[in-house]
Amino acid sequence: MDLYSGYINRLIEELSGLPGIGSKSAQRMAFYLINLPKERVQRFAGAIVEARENVRYCGQCCTLTDQELCPVCANQRRDQSTIMVVENSRDLAAYEKTGKYEGVYHVLHGAISPMLGIGPGDIKLKELIARLEKDVNEVIIATNSSLEGETTAMYISKLIKPTGVKVTRIASGVPVGGDLEYIDEVTLLRALEGRTEL
Ligand code: ZN
Repeated sequence: MDLYSGYINRLIEELSGLPGIGSKSAQRMAFYLINLPKERVQRFAGAIVEARENVRYCGQCCTLTDQELCPVCANQRRDQSTIMVVENSRDLAAYEKTGKYEGVYHVLHGAISPMLGIGPGDIKLKELIARLEKDVNEVIIATNSSLEGETTAMYISKLIKPTGVKVTRIASGVPVGGDLEYIDEVTLLRALEGRTEL
């Protein structure tokens, strides 16, 4: 069913490949973009290309940043010996928004999922283990309470425990399957305060 021209179809196809965008939304967005002034479209396209070219992983915690070290890792007032492990940069942002966490982070960029064929080698785990060679007092595992998040938490705890570093898991007051980024700050802090040793 070729309703539109090749260019519009191509744009719709690209947009519908984005997370959470169905074909109807993709069509709506495509027509919106086509009707924008040329300069707006160029600015938009430029922002995508420049972000892709300049954003990289923080040399310490692997979150997305445009510096060698992200602002949290570069901040000497943060407690560098407490590492909170999260699945993605959005979860990091959620905890940062509470303004109450004083440690640093480690961003895995995913979770172990045998169903999807995502193994320990596909997330930033060896980068985490490498950090344990420095002075680390506690690793707080704050992966989601989904099956993948729990699997990842268990895997990490088994990996770290023999090193003697304290491993804790945030409390499961967080709704099952809930993405950390959608949970309010009070719940996040309660989950952090109620963490238990694994
Ligand atoms: Zn960092």
